[in-house]
Amino acid sequence: MAYRPGPMARVCPDCDGFPIVAITTGTLHADGSRHVVPAICRACHGTGTRTARRTAPVPAGRWV
Ligand SMILES: [Zn+2]
Repeated sequence: MAYRPGPMARVCPDCDGFPIVAITTGTLHADGSRHVVPAICRACHGTGTRTARRTAPVPAGRWV
């Protein structure tokens, strides 16, 4: 069995561990820098991890 360090937290499947990103709007500031807006992952709310559900989609084993 694989060793799992820490609690039952997994990388968020929606953002792959990058919960907050900066999106450029295409406009520039007066100093030439890009105008960006932060976007936070809706699935993990900026944490980058999601706790594993107890009803994980594990394929059922065959006992026959
Ligand atoms: Zn996420």
